[in-house]
Amino acid sequence: MTKSHIESVLTQLDGSPTPRHLVAHISHQLRAAKFVDFSKTAVAAANSGFVATAGSIVAWRSGKQTAKHGFRIVGAHTDSPGLRIKPNPDDRKHGFKTLQVEIYGGPLLNSWLDRDLGIAGHVVLRSGEIKLFCSNTAVARISQLAIHLDREVNERGLILDKQLHLSPAWATNDKALNFIDWVAKQSKAVPREIVQIEAQLFDTNKAALIGTDSSLLASGRLDNQASCWASISALLESSTGAATQVVALFDHEEVGSQSATGAAGPLLEHTLEQIAASQNISRVGFIETLKKSSCISADNAHAVHHNYPERHDLANAPIINHGPALKINSNQRYATSAQSAAIFVAACNSAKVKHQLFVSRNNMPCGTTIGPITATRLGIDTVDVGVPQLSMHSAREVCGVHDLISLQLALKAYFK
Ligand code: ZN
Repeated sequence: MTKSHIESVLTQLDGSPTPRHLVAHISHQLRAAKFVDFSKTAVAAANSGFVATAGSIVAWRSGKQTAKHGFRIVGAHTDSPGLRIKPNPDDRKHGFKTLQVEIYGGPLLNSWLDRDLGIAGHVVLRSGEIKLFCSNTAVARISQLAIHLDREVNERGLILDKQLHLSPAWATNDKALNFIDWVAKQSKAVPREIVQIEAQLFDTNKAALIGTDSSLLASGRLDNQASCWASISALLESSTGAATQVVALFDHEEVGSQSATGAAGPLLEHTLEQIAASQNISRVGFIETLKKSSCISADNAHAVHHNYPERHDLANAPIINHGPALKINSNQRYATSAQSAAIFVAACNSAKVKHQLFVSRNNMPCGTTIGPITATRLGIDTVDVGVPQLSMHSAREVCGVHDLISLQLALKAYFK
């Protein structure tokens, strides 16, 4: 991995505490690379373009012969599990000003304890304007109970009441700002102009390379911002080919993808049809084009945990820094088929990177991804792949640096 790649991953992770921040960051990169922003206008003929909507974005580079060679799509998701701030969050408890939170997706709740937390999100103003905000410093903390007050915690495991035990304290001074006034100040808005706030906690600890060999990347939101980075940087570093290259990054995967901007919504299908129309491909021609298309769905995989090897099927368990994983599940939790697997294997071979296999234990069902949803909506060959990682859904996850760059190289080879 080159130094500039590392810098670009770290910058993205640190600058993207929410899906909307990630989309803003990527939109900025795309604009700088002369991708035309069609977010607010109809898609027209262009060498490259993008459509950003809320926490999702689709970017593409038009191919020379899309009708003949189809779309080469890489999909990933922009959201990560965590704690969102509820409406009317202000509370006072035993000397602390606290906030009420709502759990988003399936986070490892214990991982949010004893961290220096920031708050980021966006406000919607009466004018319709949307403003992003992000605290520059840590402003909140969810403290774990002292061991003296919870003597069996190490033997029994930590048990958290989801309603009672997750409220962050964020001030001790009664006169400290309430939430809406604090958000107004952060977003430089007038409180009475704010119609609604969407906000979440994030770990202020910066993304970092760790290990004496700096071979591990630790950060929040690696699932799945690592794949977002690999796919967008692969697109940015590619040049025009025969097929149209597409990257589709969706919000709401962690809560089932059923939303206007989720993978189960029409965003990708509509955008592909508009791209086809801009290349003078008819509706019938578009459907034919889909038959020649394929999709790589990139989402992190479970690497073998060195302390828990019994949780993995060791014949098909990826090892950190031994290459991205091809994810297989015959019950279609992953979209990979023998035929679609060949697409990714060919890309890895062409990029000269190793890949591994992931299949879960029969008594430990795996999660799912946007892969099967995209395959169902578009009816195109889809393969699920991902960078192996540990601590999935923790506030701070870890993956192998070399796997991430290998995935990026494989995606570039796929676009080529
Ligand atoms: Zn994921």
